[in-house]
Amino acid sequence: MTTSRVLAARFLRVTGVVQGVGFRPFVHRLAIRHDLAGWVRNVAGTVEVHVEGDNESLEAFEADLASEAPPISNIATLVAEVATAEGAEGFRILASADADGNRPVPPDVAICSKCEEELLNPRDRRFRHPFITCTDCGPRYTVIRSLPYDRERTSMAAFDMCPTCLAEYETPADRRHHAETVACLSCGPRVWLALDDRRLMSEGDVAIHDAAALLCIGRIVALRGVGGFHLACDATDESAVRELRHRKKREAKPFAVMVRTMDQARELATISPAEAALLRGPEHPVVLLARRDVTRLAASVSPGLDHVGVMLAYTPLHHLLLDIVRCPLVMTSGNRSDEPIAIGNDEALDKLRDIADVFLLHDREIISRVDDSVVRVVDDAPVLMRRARGYAPLAIPLPVNASRPLIAVGPHLKNTFTLVRDSSAFVSPHIGDLDGLESLAYYNTVLARFQQLFRITPEVAVRDLHPGYLTTRVAASLNVQRIIAVQHHHAHIAAVAAEHGVTQQVVGLAFDGTGFGDDGNVWGAETLVADLCGYHRMAQLRYVPLPGGDLAAREPWRVARGFLSLERGAAPAFALAFEGIGDEERSVADRQIERRLNAPLASSMGRLFDAAAAVLGVRRVSSYEGQAASELESLAGASRGQALPFPVIEQGGRLVLDPVPLLAALGEARQRGVDVGLLAARFHESVAHACANVARSVAGAAGLGVVALGGGSFQNARLLSGIRGRLEGFGLRVLVPRRLGPNDGAISYGQAAVAAAILSREG
Ligand SMILES: [Zn+2]
Ligand SMILES: [Zn+2]
Ligand SMILES: [Zn+2]
Repeated sequence: MTTSRVLAARFLRVTGVVQGVGFRPFVHRLAIRHDLAGWVRNVAGTVEVHVEGDNESLEAFEADLASEAPPISNIATLVAEVATAEGAEGFRILASADADGNRPVPPDVAICSKCEEELLNPRDRRFRHPFITCTDCGPRYTVIRSLPYDRERTSMAAFDMCPTCLAEYETPADRRHHAETVACLSCGPRVWLALDDRRLMSEGDVAIHDAAALLCIGRIVALRGVGGFHLACDATDESAVRELRHRKKREAKPFAVMVRTMDQARELATISPAEAALLRGPEHPVVLLARRDVTRLAASVSPGLDHVGVMLAYTPLHHLLLDIVRCPLVMTSGNRSDEPIAIGNDEALDKLRDIADVFLLHDREIISRVDDSVVRVVDDAPVLMRRARGYAPLAIPLPVNASRPLIAVGPHLKNTFTLVRDSSAFVSPHIGDLDGLESLAYYNTVLARFQQLFRITPEVAVRDLHPGYLTTRVAASLNVQRIIAVQHHHAHIAAVAAEHGVTQQVVGLAFDGTGFGDDGNVWGAETLVADLCGYHRMAQLRYVPLPGGDLAAREPWRVARGFLSLERGAAPAFALAFEGIGDEERSVADRQIERRLNAPLASSMGRLFDAAAAVLGVRRVSSYEGQAASELESLAGASRGQALPFPVIEQGGRLVLDPVPLLAALGEARQRGVDVGLLAARFHESVAHACANVARSVAGAAGLGVVALGGGSFQNARLLSGIRGRLEGFGLRVLVPRRLGPNDGAISYGQAAVAAAILSREG
């Protein structure tokens, strides 16, 4: 024996979010602390550790590995086995090995508190460095070209580390040990300000000061960020915000606002502890908050709404800019309406030149585009409205193993797609509405990147039932052996059940604007009994013709016209819905209904909200999807109200809810002068009451105890909370979307869950 102690060894395999999060340096520090020799390396998505020393130290190391892991890591599995001691000397970080296997790509992380402190500390060598990062924070997904995650395979490869940065990178005790994005003012990316004709205006810190000065006098700045460009303006300057709306051709859809500190956020909105935790979490999403009555915010930021989307600065550049302007900034995606957000300098200079006055640019290439995520808190728990930066592309588990690699191509609007290998679902970040060639090209780019990053070659494609969707054509064009079609609302319910690991039958309430039904009609207010493999439709809204088809989704008065056609006698109660609508338009709509020409039948919760807004005289024409529902929710506020009549009849073994009496009661009461906020509240209560009762009787008849809620209508906090509370009061277990939102962003994951279950049943 040459050593003075008994040598034992362990080999550990750690999976989860363990790459790009400072895991190897952490293991290194821990091994040194416990006086262990060996090595650590990344192999595909796994971190492998070999440690040797005495048994006691090995045990302590193993325990600390799990309990002290870096804040933004997330260990999925940790397997340790006894190994043979190799007589290793010292502890080393080995180069990444490459192999097949699941390889998590870490999401982008907001600037950490240590970096923020250094950024604003005049004595720090990274004082005012707009790209300061460390192993705990900074861009990841957006700069990674391929895996494994090492600097040479990121867009930081273009910047050679200076000797000082290199020393930090190589020093195990340093916070920036193996931080792949490490840089400083002398070796890192640079910022500059360009005019809309591309002329250079200023560089470096001066550029940031110039941009701030322009924002302060009401100008619009296009700002290159982490996942793409933002368009920014002073959120307290009504004319600047209006000008931005005008130039962006975005009439009323709310803008998100960015502030630097929590105190500044509190000046704009009331913030609960759960909301504060979200605002300052590593993802730094936009959080929908209750807007204060008295605020500096311009009215045009979120017109007609009682809430406002707020996010805290999440990059060093944001901090520097906001530290100078000292007012909240509108930060909306840098795109022309209906196009994907711009990521390249030239692309932005080209596409945004009619919108922005100046461009604050930098030279760290954005490899993957990603929008800001949007979250709201309902009943103290987060509900995602848009899953993108900070969340994507983390895998979401499926409760069923997919026997073959899959691609679920997703829905038509608010699209995401999902790639699946085994039981890991890689859901793309929010892509958006697939309306034009630009968005289809974007879809294909993200798909190609995902296939390359995660090395998945799908053998089966999953699509919506709708024969005409662009995604249906995408599925047909893929080189796969089989295509499975999944009904939209079945996918909604499957998504919610699957993320909760539930594979048995549930009652599903799928409430949204539109989805293609298996009878060829428009569905969107469906009560299903479903498991992952199939569904039965147990309840719906009474079918209503939608004159003008798609146009009806933008013009609530048309939906009211459709409902009126079911009960002509309700005409006086519906009068407010048609004020200001020309005779010619009304009679065209009536003819469409009579002749069933371009007047599809719909059972849609979204359209019911539209009709209610119309008969209350709140909104007859919308400028963005969901506007009427958002406004009704805002009007209702915290008012309490009794439910109004919303009768249910049985038809052909199915329950049918008839909204006409409800709409008529609303219209009559409004015309009698009853407060519109109270009526909006009574409308919400009526829907929650009736739908919860329907769900209860369906659950009772089927002998089921679990209800899953899915679909975009559940973005309405009052509806979600109202239905959920009632169902729980009935003793039912309620599944609410958590890891994905209620809206169509979850459809691709639901499609994937259904396909995996179908394949598994086939054996
Ligand atoms: Zn940091
Ligand atoms: Zn440097
Ligand atoms: Zn939907």
